[in-house]
Amino acid sequence: MKRIIVAVDGFSSCGKSTMAKELARETGYIYVDTGAMYRAVSLFCIRKGLMTDSKMNEEAIASELENMQLEFKTNTDGKSEIYLNGENVENIIRTLEVASGASRVSTLGVVRRELVRQQQLMGNNKGIVMDGRDIGTVVFPQAELKIFLTASPEIRAQRRLLEMKAKSESVDYDAVLTNVKERDERDVNRTESPLRKADDAIEIDNSNLTPAEQQQILRTLFAEKTLE
Ligand code: C5P
Repeated sequence: MKRIIVAVDGFSSCGKSTMAKELARETGYIYVDTGAMYRAVSLFCIRKGLMTDSKMNEEAIASELENMQLEFKTNTDGKSEIYLNGENVENIIRTLEVASGASRVSTLGVVRRELVRQQQLMGNNKGIVMDGRDIGTVVFPQAELKIFLTASPEIRAQRRLLEMKAKSESVDYDAVLTNVKERDERDVNRTESPLRKADDAIEIDNSNLTPAEQQQILRTLFAEKTLE
């Protein structure tokens, strides 16, 4: 069977990571959550005071990037988690504050170039499922299988709300919906690698699909590409 690169792109809270992780688990491929990398940069910038609610200091962020080391490690249940300068930040990067910061730092060319460079190195040996916004367009334009996931903003906000409630976080639906829409707006309209479907990507709208139905579609597509 051919080893391939699978690129999963789409809007925030579409279920990209659930889909990508499950495929990686079934196939034994490496899973890389590139959103976690942008979130970790956001956390780094917030902590260092390089980004406040009203402004971002692009020059300072550019010069601090060399002091930021990102790494994925697999924990005892086989789950891949992100480390920032040796600290496991997998959970603290999931707040709305860090998410908003991630969508802001991800508009900076200097940040994108560095993260894309690291992501391309991870794909050197193929056998990888990577999810994000620009994987099929910029990171791996040569990926053999490209998925572009969509769902309505309301459905995505509802799903995100349930996830946050399950972690006992206190947030309301309107705040989550606003966050989802703001991030869509920035992702689509930024000048640096805006979110768009690659010409050869397969679009899946999962608004009315169960996770099992979605996974079956993906499994079939994966089988077609690896047997080609
Ligand atoms: O996927 P997730 O919601 O964790 O991503 C956090 C933010 O990072 C997104 O809002 C998006 O702006 C940015 N991002 C990006 N390119 C990627 C992955 C994420 O710009 N490849």
